[in-house]
Amino acid sequence: MTVGTEWTQADVAALLREPTDGDDKYSRGVVGLRTGSARYPGAAVLGVEAAWRAGAGMVRYLGPACDLVLHRRPETVTVDGRVQAWVIGSGMDAAHRSAEETSALEAVLAGQVPVVVDAGALDLVGRAPVPRVLTPHDREHAALRARLGLPERTDRAEAARDTAAHLGVVVLLKGATTIITAPDGMQRTVTTGVPWLSTAGTGDVLAGILGALLAAGGDPFASAASAAWLHGRAGAAASAAHGGGPLVALDVAEAAASVIGGVL
Ligand code: AMP
Ligand code: MG
Repeated sequence: MTVGTEWTQADVAALLREPTDGDDKYSRGVVGLRTGSARYPGAAVLGVEAAWRAGAGMVRYLGPACDLVLHRRPETVTVDGRVQAWVIGSGMDAAHRSAEETSALEAVLAGQVPVVVDAGALDLVGRAPVPRVLTPHDREHAALRARLGLPERTDRAEAARDTAAHLGVVVLLKGATTIITAPDGMQRTVTTGVPWLSTAGTGDVLAGILGALLAAGGDPFASAASAAWLHGRAGAAASAAHGGGPLVALDVAEAAASVIGGVL
């Protein structure tokens, strides 16, 4: 089958919007994150940093890693309030999630605000009318499909297409080639990344970038494809800053800002 064509810099430029004199922090978008856990608190920091660096007007963090988040980013707001896009599940493990945390995630999924569903929240997803972007890697995608009773498929693009149609969501299937699929079957690929991105925490950064683009009012499909594109470029920049050597995820989050600056 044909997988869609590559998402381009021009496509990203068409989505991004530079702030104007008329903007304030709310018009630029408020991202809310319910991410991280006692086992993986750092995921919270990575997503929050990425949301800020991708241009959020405000970032709210509600979860178990407030101290760590505030230590890295004192700008972050840790009380409940208005949110224009949620990011949930990064750095969580469904098997170790508390009942309290599970009901908080379910409340987000029952709401009217767009949601990025990553990692340890993917087990809670069902069909719903609210815009959602799922961000599994291949193993998470296979587990999700098994839970939904969908057949095993070796073709990643085919699999993503029927998951997206079945749930009515955008699926961002991560890998060396990332495939973004809309519920209607539209597909685009992103290959801007570098193999050094295969390191812990980079997926948490991608979810944060995507949260910022959705909170700014971006269409879910264009936001997902653009977040993957920017994340890949930021990974390449983070490696280049160290002579083409290894990157760490927090550097990818930081690099997102200059990649965005270069596209605008
Ligand atoms: P996660 O699996 O959630 O930690 O996310 C890993 C991130 O790194 C995703 O954005 C992947 O697309 C990216 N990634 C992983 N492996 C590679 C690779 N070999 N080449 C390029 N990007 C990769
Ligand atoms: Mg991950």
